[in-house]
Order: sequence, then C-alpha cells, then structure tokens
Amino acid sequence: MELLKKTAVEIRKALINKEVSAVELTEAVYKRIDEVEDKIGAFNSLTKESALLTAKKVDEKIQNNEELPLLAGIPLALKDNINFKGYKTTASSKILENFVSPYDATVSIKLKENLIPVIGKTNLDEFAMGSSNENSAFKKVHNPYDLNKVPGGSSGGSAASVAALESYLALGSDTGGSIRLPASFCGITGFKPTYGRVSRYGLIAFASSLDQIGPFGRCVEDVANLYYAISGLDKKDSTSLNMPLEDPQKTLKNDIKGLKVGVIKELLTDDVDDDVKCAVLNAVKVYEKLGCTVKEVSLPLLKYSIGIYYIVATAEASSNLARYDGVKYGYRTQNPQNLMEMYTKTRKEGFGDEVKRRIMLGTYALSSGYYDAYYKKAQQIRHLVKEDFDRVFKDVDVLISPTCPNTAFEMGSRNDDPIKMYLTDVGTICANLIGSPAISIPAGFDKSNMPIGVHLIADCFKDNLLLQTAYNFEKETDYNKHFANL
Ligand code: GLN
Repeated sequence: MELLKKTAVEIRKALINKEVSAVELTEAVYKRIDEVEDKIGAFNSLTKESALLTAKKVDEKIQNNEELPLLAGIPLALKDNINFKGYKTTASSKILENFVSPYDATVSIKLKENLIPVIGKTNLDEFAMGSSNENSAFKKVHNPYDLNKVPGGSSGGSAASVAALESYLALGSDTGGSIRLPASFCGITGFKPTYGRVSRYGLIAFASSLDQIGPFGRCVEDVANLYYAISGLDKKDSTSLNMPLEDPQKTLKNDIKGLKVGVIKELLTDDVDDDVKCAVLNAVKVYEKLGCTVKEVSLPLLKYSIGIYYIVATAEASSNLARYDGVKYGYRTQNPQNLMEMYTKTRKEGFGDEVKRRIMLGTYALSSGYYDAYYKKAQQIRHLVKEDFDRVFKDVDVLISPTCPNTAFEMGSRNDDPIKMYLTDVGTICANLIGSPAISIPAGFDKSNMPIGVHLIADCFKDNLLLQTAYNFEKETDYNKHFANL
C-alpha cells in the first residue's frame, strides 16, 4: 500500500535503486485495480499486455544500467478519448463502443518513447461533455473520498484512478475544465497547458479551439515532468505551437519572491461555499508569506464566459460529431429502410442525451440567420474576454481563484438542471477561451472532508511560471499528502 502512495519522483528512486522493478510496480497497480475498481468505475478497459511489455523494457534497461527517461516505468492511466493503437477508444459513447484505434495519438507515441506503461483507458463523460462523469454511456465514476459523490468531469476516471491509488499518473483532456475540476474534486493536481503546447492529434475532437490534453499527478513535480514529456511541436496538428519548449525543471524549484498574484474578485462572491473561500484566502496568505505581492483584480467580462463557451463549444461539437454517421466507423443501426434512416437511427441510438442536446444547440447557433446573432457574437465577446485578461496580466503574473465554487456534490443531484451543472465550470472555462495555462492544486478539505482545489492561471506560454507558482505552494503545505480512505 505504501508503495502505491508514492509520487512518481519517489518511485523513480526506488526503481533506480532496484528496490522495486517496473513489472512489480505495474502488477501492484493491477492488483489494486482488482481490489477497488468495482467501487470506483474509473476504467473502461485495461491495456495489460502493453503495460507489462513496456515495464519489461524498463527493467531490462535498469539491469543494463542504461539511461532512463524521467517517468520510465511509472504506470499511467489514459483517458478513453485518446487513441492508443490496437486498443479500444470509446469516448464512453455507445457510438464508439467497439472502435479499436488503428493508430496512436501523438501523446500516446510520446508515452511509448518515454517508456511510460499505459495501464488502461479511463472512463469519462460521453465525448468529454459533462462536469460529473454521470454522462458516460457505460457506468458512473465514484469519488474515492465519498463513493456517493461525483468525481468531477469529464476526466473523472483519470482523476479518480490517481486518487484511488489505481495509477500514479494520468492524462485527461480539458475543453472547459475537464482536467482541473476532477483534480479539485478528487484532491490531486491537474494541469491544462497553453493551447497548442500538447498536440491534439489522435484526441477525439469535442471543441477543437478549446480542447487541450494535460496531466494529472500526486504532486506538481510529477505533473510538470509529464507535461514536458508529452509537449512539443507536432506537424500533424495545425494548431500546435511552434515555440521553444523549456524544461519546467529548470525553474520549478526557484522561489517566487516578488511574484505578483491577483485575486479574481468576480470568482470570490457569495456563491462560493465558505470552506472553499477560506481555502483560497488561506492560499493567498501562503503566497504572501512566500514574498509575493497580492492584490484584488477585476475581470468584468468573466461573467459571459459560460454563455460564450456553450455557443462556441456546442457549435464546434456539432460539426466535429457529424462524422459519426454509421458509414465510416462506429455503431450502425440494424436493418434501416433507406440511407436517411440509417443516418438518423444510428445517431439517435448511438448518442446519449447530453451529446444530442449539444449537437442541437450547436447546429442551431450555426444555422443561417442565427450564425451572426450567436456564433459570431460569441467569438467577438471571447476576444473581449481575452483583452480583459491581457490588461490584467500587465499588472499581475498569476491569477488565483477557487477551481469550483463548491466541492464534489452528490451523484444525481444536478442531473435535472443542466444550467446548474454548466455553472460548475464558472472558474475554469475562461482559461480555455483565452488559451492560457491553468492548474488546480489541492488546498484543503471542507467540513465533510471533501478535497478543495485552488485554481491558478498564468498568461499564455507561461506554463513554467505557473508550475513554479504551484510547486512553491505545495512545498509550504501538505494537502497533497492526504489519501482517500477506501
Ligand atoms: N464541463 C464542461 C462541458 O461539459 C467542460 C468539459 C470539458 O472540459 N471537456 O462542456
């Protein structure tokens, strides 16, 4: 058990010192999965053969005293909307239930190059649409801290697997908060890099101008190392960033004296739970103690973020999901009478309610006559939100707020009210709209012992500064050293 609680940084030492082998480590993780997975539901499928093969390669290298990439041999869980060749990629949708990836996503290739064993594909809200992981077509994910509560979504399986000690690391995707929200609900660290830093090639598209793959881990250093391992220019993704990539390790452990931290006024209102507010104010004190200057900043256009997001994201989703038509791949309805019926029945039977809701909303926003009124207007305001942030980032280096106004909620409690569910992402969506890096780090517990996350945002391309800011907080506190009692 103690072995499973270690961070990747600690595990690496144990591997190099031959206290444990990579195969033993992978087997220990599978044993844990056998024990707790019935209660958690984090995995859609396991990729055991591939994981053990990678682990064996790592052990051979250790035996031969060969150089090892930093995260070699450390078991990782991969969100099931990222292609991993030869294994199923379902996006937790009936329409892709039997789809086997014919190729690797760029991040999957990078994981292989870094000899990181991929242990399985994690459950998510169907097509990454949701905040609670209740929208999976297969099963729900349960929060390891309280099995009656949601783990957050849409990368709930990835976050829960790390929190339940079923994996050390995980990858998720984040379109409006899907890495950071589950990280905060499950008491771990989750990072969304600057848009374009990590290739989206091989990620099942939800909203292409917002989607970004990113890491989960037990500490900031693990997350920083994994981010570095999966990042970089990729010709297969036309939005991939062509900018030098610096190793975050170079600055991660430097102090942050003199750093200017801005507290976002609009995200610390009375709508925020008291315990969450307390945790943020506490974090502010930690930053002051570390020699940062803290001041309140205002982002008046932030209130439009959710509105903009649900136009832009649904519009892009309606276009991206047009490819699931029963012709090329995926589910096809049985015995259609004609071609049109084949299309309509395939989509009717293959997609879940939330996905259909988004397709309808997006199609409406893009239709002639409404395009200017909704889609174009949303893009224009998105631009103004970016200008709002640009103004603030002239004044401060990093912004702080709650990751979510509340901690994990009871399963089923928000299903009848989509708007209430959508509001869960009020603090995270803005980072996707402006493309900036953002991270959620453990920052306390509420009265019912549920984890609280604090959210930090930096300007675009300042990923390393953000990680350094998060690292310094973690070093001063011990919130990331708590584990769920399972
Ligand atoms: N909760 C948001 C949504 O449902 C964000 C999802 C995500 O980041 N993938 O769209």
